Amino acid sequence: MFDHPSYDAHEGVHLFQDEASGLKAIIAIHSTARGPAAGGTRMWDFANGEAMLRDVLRLSQGMSYKNAMADLPLGGGKAVIWGNAKTDKSPDLFRAFGRAVESLQGRYYTAEDVGIDVADMEIVRQETAYVAGLDKGEAASGDPSPITARGVFLGIVETAKRALGSGDLKGRTVAVQGVGSVGAHTCDHLAEAGANLIITDIDQAALQAVSARTGARIVGPDEIYDVEADIFSPCALGAIINEQTLGRFRVKAIAGGANNQLVMPEMGELLRRKGILYAPDYVINGGGIINVAAEISGNYSREWVDAKLARLVETLGDVLDEALSHGKPTNQVADRIARERIAAAR
Ligand code: NAD
Repeated sequence: MFDHPSYDAHEGVHLFQDEASGLKAIIAIHSTARGPAAGGTRMWDFANGEAMLRDVLRLSQGMSYKNAMADLPLGGGKAVIWGNAKTDKSPDLFRAFGRAVESLQGRYYTAEDVGIDVADMEIVRQETAYVAGLDKGEAASGDPSPITARGVFLGIVETAKRALGSGDLKGRTVAVQGVGSVGAHTCDHLAEAGANLIITDIDQAALQAVSARTGARIVGPDEIYDVEADIFSPCALGAIINEQTLGRFRVKAIAGGANNQLVMPEMGELLRRKGILYAPDYVINGGGIINVAAEISGNYSREWVDAKLARLVETLGDVLDEALSHGKPTNQVADRIARERIAAAR
């Protein structure tokens, strides 16, 4: 474990197995320096235990950085459950997972991530109070994606100011990859601001709905990398900025809600050399975790969420400015600030 390339001095990596329900889970706690570790639970049919471990370590480190950039009193952690989210779920499994979360006595707060929905978390809640992202209850914050999308939209404006010389998106073209929860809301904001949209998804119904509302032009999933646009906004998958796509982008900036957009950190420097301004993913998409943090505080307040989001957008601007003025990749600047904030809290 200590030699694992993604270990990065995690405070704790906890493995849980429950024979009766079939639960196999890992809860990784990267840092509690800023507060209890917070990050969602992902259910995925991993190829093997090593793939599962790598995923959880990278995701929990990412949550430390995201929470630090959003200036939340939270550290970083993440949970993964090994299994097929369509066929392997059961109430017993989520109750066993709830007991696992409870055993950490509040050092880790969980919420939904890929493969996990609110109904699953309601079962986890039966065993532990260290759960957020619920629909019911006094401080329940519900679906975080509208707040994430608002942050992404404001982040696009902030990025446009630097990459296009103006934050006015009227008549600008934005290519949006993925019109799910975050992408569709982002499209609505962009259309309202007068932007022309080019959209793609593998879900035809979602595409038609967004196109009907916003007048967006629809292209195929692979075509989105080749369209000429001012900004590319990835709101679906990770690792879409890679050796294959890098040479295809015909945009001045990349700013979207998807997690882990760079296949490896070095892509940030390659984007810089191409003159593409990249809004680091874990900075621009921090709106959702701000909403969840308000729920964890036990006293949800929309004003608090709005103020934190406004500050996060300023932080994104600071990251872009520093990167531009020092000729550095934006992801490197963001990583440095995140690490400094975590170290300062220690
Ligand atoms: P979602 O599942 O609602 O939407 C994802 C969309 O991407 C779906 O419509 C899906 O059909 C589409 N898609 C899948 N494969 C595709 C492909 N090959 N090409 C084009 N489209 C494809 O998920 P979401 O909640 O909107 O999250 C989107 C991204 O934003 C994810 O990377 C997620 O981790 C990240 N994110 C989400 C939140 C949030 O609040 N929901 C917060 C932070 C980050």
